Amino acid sequence: MTFTSLDAPVTSVPQERSIVTAVPGPKSRELHERRLAVVSSGVSSTLPVYIEKANGAILVDVDGNRFIDFGAGIGVTTVGHTEASVVAAAAGQLQDVIHTLFTITPYEQYVRVAELLAEHTPGDWAKKSVLVNSGAEAVENGVKIARKYTGRRAVAVLDHAYHGRTNLTMAMNYKAMPYATGFGPLAGDVYHAPSSYPYHDGLNGAEAAARTTTWLEKVVGASDLACLVVEPIQGEGGFMVPADGYLPALQEWCTANGVVLIADEIQSGMARTGRYYASEHFGLEPDLVLTAKGIAGGLPLAAVTGRAEIMDAAQPGGLGGTFGGNPVACAAAVAVFEAIEDNGLLAEGERIEKTLTAGLEKLAATYDIIGEIRGRGAMIAIELVQPGTGSTTKEPNAAAVTEITTWAAQQGVLFLSAGTYGNVLRFLPSLAVTDELIADGLSVLDAALARLS
Ligand SMILES: *Cc1c(COP(=O)(O)O)cnc(C)c1O
Repeated sequence: MTFTSLDAPVTSVPQERSIVTAVPGPKSRELHERRLAVVSSGVSSTLPVYIEKANGAILVDVDGNRFIDFGAGIGVTTVGHTEASVVAAAAGQLQDVIHTLFTITPYEQYVRVAELLAEHTPGDWAKKSVLVNSGAEAVENGVKIARKYTGRRAVAVLDHAYHGRTNLTMAMNYKAMPYATGFGPLAGDVYHAPSSYPYHDGLNGAEAAARTTTWLEKVVGASDLACLVVEPIQGEGGFMVPADGYLPALQEWCTANGVVLIADEIQSGMARTGRYYASEHFGLEPDLVLTAKGIAGGLPLAAVTGRAEIMDAAQPGGLGGTFGGNPVACAAAVAVFEAIEDNGLLAEGERIEKTLTAGLEKLAATYDIIGEIRGRGAMIAIELVQPGTGSTTKEPNAAAVTEITTWAAQQGVLFLSAGTYGNVLRFLPSLAVTDELIADGLSVLDAALARLS
């Protein structure tokens, strides 16, 4: 590689929060005014502080405020913001070749990413990939490939799912608002089956799976079903961890009925949960796996990876796109896979789960609005309920989530909400987040909960 000015290491940012202005500060407010004039209001922002710099687990805004980032761009900067090896790989690639279009004249980096995906996705069989630009595009392609392979039309998803904002994927989401309302007509032949949500349904894995597959057989008919798309741990829906045995039972049913099982690991994959893929926690070996968010350290890249015979069902020229598998994004992705190995990031995910859940359990002993703590690795959430309903009706408490996230931001901690009812607070920090930063974030959460009670 031929570095010039890019040889300099990434400037590091102190890994601690520091608030020096009101939040948002004056410069952010000014930028926000400019934005409101020219950016569609269909694009919203959780916290309108404008970010100038990011490193590790810290965001620095234009007013000099430093935030602990418990969102990582929704689980994208899993290896850490501006991770030095990823920056170097991308910068080096920028100087060598930025774009040729793989479908015109290919390059090694795309092939290398496909090799790494074949190696690290679950299942011990021959696998192939297609690389695209976004998670939603990966979902679209997974569905296309499954339809071509099976010669069937119908697509099944689970309740509380989130799969994207393109035309097909908005029909696959659970929530109409804000993702689909007014944007129709929606794509047809998409069916929403009951899922496993142990905190609310109380079903074990076998019972929940029987409910799902019975529903599919009655409402869709297995012989018309091309694929069942599942998030092994649901993301936007609220980090629901399915009951033991649920996912393998779905796979078994899919295999018996010639249905392609697609795991949407866009949020849960790439070392997010202490494994390369969350499927591994459940003994699930999906036919196709979708990867996006964390794969390239923040650069746009996504993939469909799966059984070679399914992936090869698509006719030559049927898959791809101008920017899909861009060399710079691919070089960054190769560096991400290397960082996972070299920096022991699977173990970091386990460390974060331990620290975070221990801290949250302490809070749950004090604050009864914490109904459940769930998740794996650096993908942990708490579901907030109305006071006194935790062991009975488990009434959603979205107002508490809004108050906590708003107040915590003023203190320099960025928490994200989630959940079909908006009552889930999710933690998906970068794996670079230290135990000290987690403790500091939890102290702010403690204070926020105390304010509520
Ligand atoms: C974010 C997400 C998507 C959509 O990915 P985009 O890159 O935003 O299109 C799909 N599925 C899951 C589970 C996600 O978390």
